[in-house]
Amino acid sequence: MLNLSIKANALKSKVILVTGAGDGIGRQAALSYAEQGATVILLGKTVSKLESVYDQIVAAGHPEPAIVPLDLKGATEQHYIDMTDTIEQQFKRLDGVLHNAAILTVLSPFEQIEQSSFDDVMKVNVTAAFTMTKALLPLLKKSIHSSVIFTTSSVGRKGRAYWGAYAISKFATEGMMETLADELENTPVRVNCINPGATSTQMRARAFPGEDASLLKSPQDIMAPYLFLMADESAKVTGESIDAQPK
Ligand code: NDP
Repeated sequence: MLNLSIKANALKSKVILVTGAGDGIGRQAALSYAEQGATVILLGKTVSKLESVYDQIVAAGHPEPAIVPLDLKGATEQHYIDMTDTIEQQFKRLDGVLHNAAILTVLSPFEQIEQSSFDDVMKVNVTAAFTMTKALLPLLKKSIHSSVIFTTSSVGRKGRAYWGAYAISKFATEGMMETLADELENTPVRVNCINPGATSTQMRARAFPGEDASLLKSPQDIMAPYLFLMADESAKVTGESIDAQPK
C-alpha cells in the first residue's frame, strides 16, 4: 500500500488545472491544492460555481486562481490548443491536470440507452480528457515533474448492470491511463487514476436517490490521494489506479 503523506505546502509554486472545479470532488480538490500552495486553474461549465471557488481561494489568502469556462460537451480540439497557449503565456508552466469532470446521465437497461446520451457521456468523460491531455502534453513535459490524474470508478473495473455508458466510459478512462502511463514511462510525466469511492456529491445523490448522504464520506475526507499524486512525493508513481477509500 502506498504511503500518501506529503510535506507541508507540498504544491508551492505548482500550476494545476482541475476540470469540474465548480462542484463536488473537483471543487474540494481545487481548494485543497490551493491550500497547499498551488495556483489552480478552475475549468468548468457553470461560471457562477467557478467564481464561488475563486472567491473562497482568494479570501483564504491562497495564490490567485484562474477561471476557464468551458463546456466539455461542445469543446473542440482548437479550444484545448488555445487554452494550452493561454496557460503557457500566463503561467509559463503546467505541473498537473486533474481530469475530474464527468456526467452520469440516467441509469437504464442497455437496450434503452439513447444514442445521444451515450455520445454525450463519451464526449465529456473520455474524448474531452483525451483531447485536452493531447494538447497539454508538450507543456506538461517541460515541467521537472508533472502529474496527470484521471478519475475512474468501481464500475470502470467490473461492469455492472444498468450503469451503461458511464461504466463503459470509466473502462475507457482506465485504458487511457494505462496506455499513456506506459508510453510516458521514461518522461517527467506520471499518469494515474483515482477511484473516489462513494462520496457525498450531487452525482452520487442522482445515482442513489434513497441513500442517507450523511453516512457517506465527504469530498474533504478523500483528498489524501488527490494531494499525494500532485505532490513530488509521488514523482515515481505511474500507471496506478488508486482507491481513495480502500476496502
Ligand atoms: P458532480 O456531479 O458533483 O460534479 C461534476 C463536476 O463536473 C461539476 O463541477 C460539473 O460542472 C462538471 N461537469 C459536468 N459536465 C461538464 C461539462 N460538460 N463541461 C465542464 N464541466 C462539466 O460529480 P462528483 O464530484 O461526484 O464526481 C467527480 C468525479 O468523480 C467524476 O469523474 C465521477 O465520475 C467520479 N466518481 C464519483 C463518485 C461519487 O461517489 N461521487 C464515485 C466514483 C467516481 P457543473 O456543476 O457546472 O455542471
